[in-house]
Amino acid sequence: MDNVVDVWTRLRALWTSPSPDRARPGTVGGAGHNGPVATSETTEAPPGPVQALRRIAFLLERSRAETYKVKAFRAAAATILPLGEEVVTRVEAGTLRELPGIGASTAEVIEAAVQGRVPRRLAQLEQEVGGPLVEGGEQVRAALRGDLHSHSDWSDGGSPIEEMAFTAMELGHDYLVLTDHSPRLTVANGLSAARLARQLEVVDAVNEHLDGGFRLLRGIEVDILDDGSLDQTEEMLARLDVRVASVHSKLKMDRDAMTRRMVAAVHDPWTNVLGHCTGRLVTGNRGTRAQSEFDAEAVFAACAETGTAVEINSRPERRDPPTRLLQQAIDAGCLFSIDSDAHAPGQLDFQVYGCARAEELGLDPERIVNTWTTERLLDWARPA
Ligand SMILES: [Zn+2]
Ligand SMILES: [Zn+2]
Repeated sequence: MDNVVDVWTRLRALWTSPSPDRARPGTVGGAGHNGPVATSETTEAPPGPVQALRRIAFLLERSRAETYKVKAFRAAAATILPLGEEVVTRVEAGTLRELPGIGASTAEVIEAAVQGRVPRRLAQLEQEVGGPLVEGGEQVRAALRGDLHSHSDWSDGGSPIEEMAFTAMELGHDYLVLTDHSPRLTVANGLSAARLARQLEVVDAVNEHLDGGFRLLRGIEVDILDDGSLDQTEEMLARLDVRVASVHSKLKMDRDAMTRRMVAAVHDPWTNVLGHCTGRLVTGNRGTRAQSEFDAEAVFAACAETGTAVEINSRPERRDPPTRLLQQAIDAGCLFSIDSDAHAPGQLDFQVYGCARAEELGLDPERIVNTWTTERLLDWARPA
């Protein structure tokens, strides 16, 4: 959905939906919980219908449910978001299911919420998957101010830009960098220079309608091409705030060639973060994939020398870099970025996995660029 006006309308509806349906920072979905990780005690009012649907979707996404199981809840939230009081009228009249995208299970959630009850599905999910995702990492997580790697439905993510931004706000972030894919990654609907330019207008529109504290930053996950160059025009790279550069193709390239490729990309003045450096997959429905072969000493030395952050990619199926390499990067004096690489709003909560790993290895939070303020981050990311 590339329409700026439409984004504006939906964002405005999210932002202005009346209490108790208005989300508050630190309460994703506004379900009456303290902080992004739910606890079972709640003394606040039950959530309104939009918040109940969003909270269910969030909980499903962060527990890695298949997209098709989440879709109905996100779609239903989008349908009723602009309706206001009409939702109540429709519940009373029993005409909810005449609306597009409202089925039996979503109608049940909406009815309960409108009638002031906690929907059964929501209560069940809070109980089953609402707790902490992982032991440890709390201190590092508390120090994070943002996330440098996220995808929207403009490339291979599942949700609109403003929903990603809004959820990042609710998680307590000061900023989220939107990093959709670059043109050559056609399987992920990578953005051409023209589409990226259009996306930047939407990012501006989102920022104009958020009040102050939070910023959606302009970014990209740019492919590192075979020769180490970056897959986007210089002109567009210059218009962005933060650039994550990642290898997505020819992961089995021989060691020397891969080393040259990665070192060249790290030395590119536009590269700020080296994304999921080994490309490995350790679990999940895409199967497993061995890590790429490269001279880690040379690559991490280049990162340390250029001030490029090594990404700690928090996606459970990536866990990249592996622990031995992560330790090596720490010893090499690198900076780090703990990123969710979220492809859905609930996956923004994945960051805690990376935090747990960083904390376990005793990584100083000062070396994690996303513990920095927005201004400091932007200064660092701007080429000299
Ligand atoms: Zn990637
Ligand atoms: Zn990504």
